[in-house]
Amino acid sequence: MQLADLGERASSGESITRTEALGVLTTEDADILAVVAAAAQPRFAFYGNRVRVNFLVNLKSGLCPEDCFYCSQRLGSDAEILKYSWLSKEQAVATAKAGISAGARRVCLVASGTRPSNREVGKIRDITEAIKGDHPGVEICACAGFLTDTQADALAESGVDAYNHNLNTASEHYANICTTHTYDDRVDTVTKTKASGLSPCSGFIAGMGETPEQLVDLAFALRDLGADSIPVNFLLPFDGTPLKGTNNLTPHDCLRILAMVRLVNPRSEVRLAAGRELHLRSMQVLGLHIANSLFLGDYLTSEGQPGQADLDMIADAGMVLEGSPAPEPTGKPTTVPIRRRGAGTAISPNS
Ligand code: SF4
Repeated sequence: MQLADLGERASSGESITRTEALGVLTTEDADILAVVAAAAQPRFAFYGNRVRVNFLVNLKSGLCPEDCFYCSQRLGSDAEILKYSWLSKEQAVATAKAGISAGARRVCLVASGTRPSNREVGKIRDITEAIKGDHPGVEICACAGFLTDTQADALAESGVDAYNHNLNTASEHYANICTTHTYDDRVDTVTKTKASGLSPCSGFIAGMGETPEQLVDLAFALRDLGADSIPVNFLLPFDGTPLKGTNNLTPHDCLRILAMVRLVNPRSEVRLAAGRELHLRSMQVLGLHIANSLFLGDYLTSEGQPGQADLDMIADAGMVLEGSPAPEPTGKPTTVPIRRRGAGTAISPNS
């Protein structure tokens, strides 16, 4: 398998084959720069040196009746997270503005739970209108669980641009990470959001005991569903969840997974999502040569690295924020306070 050939083909928009995708996941560590270089070809062909910055607003935290094994907000979780029921519109808008002023061009409005009520869909509409009233160029992505056709249509009509609903893991592996709903339930909502005209945002969490073949299944499933944005999360194995202590990923594994997803979905936005700091560590910047998008700062219920460190990493890589003028080079490093990951923090990447 010639990795450079795969990159060249993907740069014309063509997906690599399943066999080739599996080959990418099973390359030797010594070949990692060739893997990154291959995946960088379509990344730069379709997105140049731009990075899309996304900012999470956690509208409702914890108290979920679902039992997703990785999630700190699941039924019965005793992870030490904040639990609250819906921010006010004013709180949500103020939080979103902080992210927008730091460079975010997409705000992700996230609420835990199985599905939103129609009243909650109305709250998302109101928050969306308020944010877009002040920042018309900012995109809104909602994430609130399973949707009916009517709710998907209502969100699309209210100005929401995208809807996040992750597949999380492969169909064959789904029963091992959740018993309260199925993979097909997830596919159903992604399909409904696309039918309503919302941009489908759907990804997964690597490192939950899935096989390389199942990761390939996921990448192709997302391609077949037409996912415009693909958040790639790496498991944060938090205390208080059944996956506590699971830590199977190396930085090289993460880069191979990102590269495989990019080469199968060359035109999609591939996002470095939760767990990048823990699993990619000092190799994060190589991930940025494959992915064209990241979450700025903290996640839903866990700390990311400080937002300024993300912005500095983007600038150091010679990249620019999507939708922003190129920063003036100062030639001086920014002083960033060092923070340590807080004890007992946890994440639930997506409903
Ligand atoms: S991932 Fe979403 S649906 Fe699953 S337990 Fe967490 S908040 Fe609930």
